[in-house]
Amino acid sequence: MNKATARERGTHTAQEEQTPPPGWDEAQNELARAADLALLLIAGHQPPSLLTSNNNSICRALQSSKDQAHLCEPYCGKAYQRALEAGGAPAHYRCHAGFNCFAQTIKLTGERTLAVIGGRAFHEMKDYRQLVERVRDGDLASLNSDELFQNILFGSKEKLDELAERIASAAVNFHSRTPTHQVAKRDSASKKTGKEFNQQLEDASQGAEANQQSAVVAESNQPATLRESCRAALDNLAEKYQLASLALLLRVGDTFKCVSVTGNFSEGAMPVEIDPEDEKLLEAARRGRPLVATKQQRASKNSMNGKDDSFELYPLVVGDEIKGMLLIGDRILNEETRESMFKFCRELAMPIEVLRLREELERRMRAAYHAQSFSERVNGVEPAEAYATILTHSAELMRAERSSLLLFDEEANELEVKAALGPRAEITREARLRLGDGIAGSVLSEGRPLVVRDVSASKYASAPPERLYKSDSFISYPVIIGGRKVGVLNVTDKKDGSFYDEFDLDLLEMIAPQMALALDRAGWHQKATEFQLLSITDPLTDLLNRRYLEERLSEELERSKRHRYLMSFMMIDIDDFKTYNDSNGHQAGDLALEMTAQALKSVLRSADVAARYGGEEFSVLLPQTSLAEAEVIAERIRRRVERTRYPHGKTQPLGSVTVSIGISTFGAQTETAEAVIGAADEALYRAKEQGKNRIVLAAATPPPTSDAA
Ligand code: GH3
Ligand code: MG
Ligand code: MG
Repeated sequence: MNKATARERGTHTAQEEQTPPPGWDEAQNELARAADLALLLIAGHQPPSLLTSNNNSICRALQSSKDQAHLCEPYCGKAYQRALEAGGAPAHYRCHAGFNCFAQTIKLTGERTLAVIGGRAFHEMKDYRQLVERVRDGDLASLNSDELFQNILFGSKEKLDELAERIASAAVNFHSRTPTHQVAKRDSASKKTGKEFNQQLEDASQGAEANQQSAVVAESNQPATLRESCRAALDNLAEKYQLASLALLLRVGDTFKCVSVTGNFSEGAMPVEIDPEDEKLLEAARRGRPLVATKQQRASKNSMNGKDDSFELYPLVVGDEIKGMLLIGDRILNEETRESMFKFCRELAMPIEVLRLREELERRMRAAYHAQSFSERVNGVEPAEAYATILTHSAELMRAERSSLLLFDEEANELEVKAALGPRAEITREARLRLGDGIAGSVLSEGRPLVVRDVSASKYASAPPERLYKSDSFISYPVIIGGRKVGVLNVTDKKDGSFYDEFDLDLLEMIAPQMALALDRAGWHQKATEFQLLSITDPLTDLLNRRYLEERLSEELERSKRHRYLMSFMMIDIDDFKTYNDSNGHQAGDLALEMTAQALKSVLRSADVAARYGGEEFSVLLPQTSLAEAEVIAERIRRRVERTRYPHGKTQPLGSVTVSIGISTFGAQTETAEAVIGAADEALYRAKEQGKNRIVLAAATPPPTSDAA
């Protein structure tokens, strides 16, 4: 790992000018590796570099990207110049990707001045998060690839300075012909360079200065999964301190989820229900004292194997947020061990958070892909085909070998298998279940998903007929829109043989709205042919209708409340549409409405929900979108409509067909569908008052405090 690739090193071997002085590469590689930061040797403009050590995966991607590479020009492209201007001192700068870098001149042989770029690291977690957002749906979206997050580096400003100093002194030694390998050796001896994650954890618990955070992420050839890393951390602790019962919980939204357990803590059962904002927990983190969970704090249903002794709880803190907890369940520790536990947690928190974010990003990208596929492929096809498509995508997303999709038939009060995948699918297809019967039946009647890690250890051990699967773990997920029961999705037999847990459930949650919509559409197609029932789409514009929008809005608000997602809402109204109608006739008006709907669709993202709210009013629900992001999208809509050539646009009072847009967002005073719509409406009214063809934002209210604990 962490070696410059042959390509990076060998690009210019033909030219003497473009190679590092013989013997220097060993020293530079070793320094970069020991510090876990990138180092690039340059002789002028970068690229090309003479020698690249431990480069960042993002920088590699940026430089091989046609549309992004030139954006690095003002930063690393000018690094040599910056270094010259700073004399012998390191010149610090932040680059296009947001990394902290330094550039510093060195002399290795003769009089030729070279420079090094060092760092390419984040100082803080929030910068990393920002990058993730940019890759997800910002200006770096085109870089998206599997390798992108394989080697992300972290380091404080002090660490960058320290590396600059080391490089400078290594260069002086090199210049005066001190054998370079000694420089490197001395450095590596004082720093841990262990490759194994276990080794790193041991270092951490022993208080070595090993740079944990990059170490976990930097295992670029075979990145450890979050679960593996957590498991390794627990095993390591258990062995080192002779502890039997440990659990690692990570924060997801406003709850903690159990990632790994040993001893008396059991897989699947949460050992403690505690809010990440819990005052006692925050206080424990501030004071560096463990929180001792008493019997009362452990709801009896969660008590672990019936034993009622207390356990200690150590927060994992990143910045000022509690990102997780380590639970130690077998005995009360002495002060010295508590101290070590705190140290361990401090050093573990960052790499675990990096991994968690990376996996979350990966999950979100997969979810977005499959959600889009639902929307694109399900529209207008035969119901049977739509069900099969929905199931195939869901199974693929969940990496399930076996899955089934059941739809609820209200009249018969029964669940009917509409599609099944995997071995024994034929048998599964026969099944019908009454609401409340079997696992799927109770999941739908209770409206709560069920995640079972180990069926043999659960109350479902006497498997009903539908549960004759090879693995012991499954998820049964109810699909519900606005309180209406649609169906149940079952997935089981994970391809890699591992079990399903709350993180997988999260993934399903992400695609649930699109799945529900697709199912609803498919269901409607079927009903429409059978009974000519009500539609959820508007026949003129093919957008969703108001009834559907209002149901979805309530659903999204619940989701936002639960996961603290942002959510925005737009109300769009065509300006002076009465004039258009009166001057050009109703038919021309209808065509203009269709064209406006088309303009809307062309600008929106797949997750956005556009509806015809009524007459010449449209609304758009933007899940997981801030007010500021919504404003950008609204501006795109406004401009797109303004530039669309409507047949009679020129005779409109403003010289073309235009729209006014009011935007509101989910907040403390706007928690209900009514309030969100009302706030957007009010903003729209102001946009009209201010002269139309514009966007007005509703005054933002602070996010609501969550009531889901
Ligand atoms: P403002 O800029 O303030 O929004 O003015 P406006 O003229 O757009 O607003 P108003 O609400 O007075 O007029 C809306 C008009 O939209 C009334 C009606 O002629 C037209 N309209 C509503 N629904 C339809 C429809 O389905 N088809 C057609 N062709 N016209 C419609
Ligand atoms: Mg109107
Ligand atoms: Mg109008």
